[in-house]
Amino acid sequence: MIVRITLEIALGKEFDYEVPSEFEERIALGSRVKVPFGTRQLMGVVTALPATSSFPVLKPIIDVVGQGSLVTPKVLDLARWMAAYYCCPIEIALKSVLPVAVRRDREGWKKQLHIRAVEPTGQVPALTERQAALRSILQQWKELPLQEFLKLTRSTAATAKKLEDAGVALICREVMERDPHAHEHILPSEPLALNQEQARAHAAILAAMNQKEVQQKPNVFLLHGVTGSGKTEVYLQAIDHALSQGRGAIVLVPEISLTPQTVERFKARFAVGKRATLVAVLHSHLSDGERHDEWHKIREGRARIVIGARSAVFAPVDPLGLIIVDEEHEHSYKQEEAPRYHARDVAVVRAQKEGAVVVLGSATPSMETYHHAKGGKYHLLEMLSRADDKSLPWVRVMDMRGEGRHDKGIPILSQQLKEAIDQRLEKREQTMLFLNRRGYASSLQCPQCGYVAGCPQCSLSLTYHRRQQRLRCHLCGHDERAPICCPVDTCRSAEIRFAGVGTERVEDTLARLYPTASIRRMDSDTLKKKEDYKRILTEFRQGKVDILIGTQMIAKGLHFPNVTLVGIIYADLSLHIPDFRAGERTFQLITQVAGRAGRGEVEGDVYVQSFTPFHPAIQYARRHDYVGFYEQEWEFREQTSYPPALRLALVTLRGRQEAKLKLSADHLRQAIEGATQDIQGFSLAGPAPAPLERAENHYRYQILMRAQRMSRLSARLAGVMDSMRLPQGVKVSIDIDPVNLY
Ligand code: ADP
Ligand code: ZN
Ligand code: ZN
Repeated sequence: MIVRITLEIALGKEFDYEVPSEFEERIALGSRVKVPFGTRQLMGVVTALPATSSFPVLKPIIDVVGQGSLVTPKVLDLARWMAAYYCCPIEIALKSVLPVAVRRDREGWKKQLHIRAVEPTGQVPALTERQAALRSILQQWKELPLQEFLKLTRSTAATAKKLEDAGVALICREVMERDPHAHEHILPSEPLALNQEQARAHAAILAAMNQKEVQQKPNVFLLHGVTGSGKTEVYLQAIDHALSQGRGAIVLVPEISLTPQTVERFKARFAVGKRATLVAVLHSHLSDGERHDEWHKIREGRARIVIGARSAVFAPVDPLGLIIVDEEHEHSYKQEEAPRYHARDVAVVRAQKEGAVVVLGSATPSMETYHHAKGGKYHLLEMLSRADDKSLPWVRVMDMRGEGRHDKGIPILSQQLKEAIDQRLEKREQTMLFLNRRGYASSLQCPQCGYVAGCPQCSLSLTYHRRQQRLRCHLCGHDERAPICCPVDTCRSAEIRFAGVGTERVEDTLARLYPTASIRRMDSDTLKKKEDYKRILTEFRQGKVDILIGTQMIAKGLHFPNVTLVGIIYADLSLHIPDFRAGERTFQLITQVAGRAGRGEVEGDVYVQSFTPFHPAIQYARRHDYVGFYEQEWEFREQTSYPPALRLALVTLRGRQEAKLKLSADHLRQAIEGATQDIQGFSLAGPAPAPLERAENHYRYQILMRAQRMSRLSARLAGVMDSMRLPQGVKVSIDIDPVNLY
């Protein structure tokens, strides 16, 4: 028997080994093995079982590690597709498919030693006074983890062993599954009677799930439903159907909305009482041990429903019936390091390979997905009214250009928004204020000489954090004391001041305006601990908080019936980024944030403050007109040849020496041009300095490519990268279908 192995270290190659007969039974695709490599022993994964090898003499593997294969052959196949499509070595693709915690098997099952009091059979041996004391403590507890017992009694393991030898205690191993949600009490929920729009969507999805024959086209639905239209109920009932077919389901949600509130809705339906293990949760805050346990639960089929962020798309659910991608337009589905995959797109490919159905849900579908739906590649399902017949909130756009007063500059809150908050405080209703920038001010500027405090390592200005009196780079984390006067030697002006606003400054302003109101801020600066997020949201839900200020963290998925006012402090912020998706992002953000208002008995109001109030992204969002926005945005994308009109690939080169970097970039451009001549619709721009010219002390150059279809371009790029020798100190990354053009 021969196995082809992908080793853990980055070699971009697979290696063949022989399997001694004693291991043959335990070897399958995806098995982890220990192999000799040079003078070392390395871990690897079986990625193929070839009948023959082109090498005449093969070394034997040393050992098979763990039981069974942790990846399903189908997911292994998916990793191969990823490596090819996203231009990355197979071991990098495998790293995403099989999390480190699971692959190394280091954590293993958490086997805790317990100590238990037992009655000695026969005669009670003579105990020392100390031992007798320990025994009586143990008798009170009956059984407890050994570590706790030792701590409690300030004794050592040797002492405990003596108790065991004397026959009055038993030390045993207990396998404890770590359940990160062990302390939650969740009430079960029953399926709701679907309204007409939901019923239509539900029926279409079920019909696709019931199809027996293998489909040529991917079976993908776009569920375009306004916020509050009841998409989750449709997901829940489709998952129920998958279970009744004996298949499992994966639910992807953006990390940021993987809140207890979201998870609870799934657990309440599927995982209470006896079925407590039916739902596994995968998110980035799990410890290695917890991740290991959740993974095994899935692989062993005890958990049939997986809910998680991006990487949950690889969960070893088998057989797989359904993948749901909620908020499919979210950019966090794209991984910003190799393999630079997009979980939504991987979901579509995986589902097709495994005969599963995909439901992409959003109130503001990405241009790409809606384009596929219009073109018939995906099926379009629409839910255009709220499930409970509540009306969508009334959105008002405040023209901030008229708000400035000559003596004071432009205020943070417009007069109307201020009054609206006043009314809410009076009526004891709640307000959410949104601003996608943390810190106090976006920059520190000197009006005398024009100095702007910038990061010494990046081409970005530093953000002023007033509480700590620090300047911070939000890219690399550089952190320095804020100066009290201009640091330019020839200037030294004390008039140096901050410009722009961040959440911290909004909080300060509000505290001054509404001294009796209870105000909380939620951004990555205020959330230091794992529990902070939950705590603040719980306080908010219980009505202990009047005004919640936050970044995008509060934009999604939250459902608070008592919120009747939502304010967007500065809607233009996302419009002015140098990215062709700026308008799309702004439209999505306003729509999502607005969706937080009026989810209870009282209608909701949304105030959008803007300096460009007539921008189409803002105006279409005001009218809740997704299709209108799509159509005018499509014209722009078509004229400028941006996605979804054409596909993009972005090559970024980084290096400390700019001249050397530029030279390498020119070489690379030539090589790419040579390899891509026959690709339909191919064009290339650059090399040019990236919008973010310098980051963490490295210069950055980019080459941007366009093509009609991607798979062929990927293959050519991989070929170029294989044959290209770049000078030392120059690093290249390839990003297929980039969402971030920085
Ligand atoms: P979405 O995910 O589309 O934003 P939700 O799933 O959060 O919407 O639903 C909004 C509210 O409507 C929730 O409180 C939900 O319980 C309720 N809801 C959903 N479907 C129904 C239904 N068929 N009948 C009554 N209420 C429903
Ligand atoms: Zn100055
Ligand atoms: Zn920096």
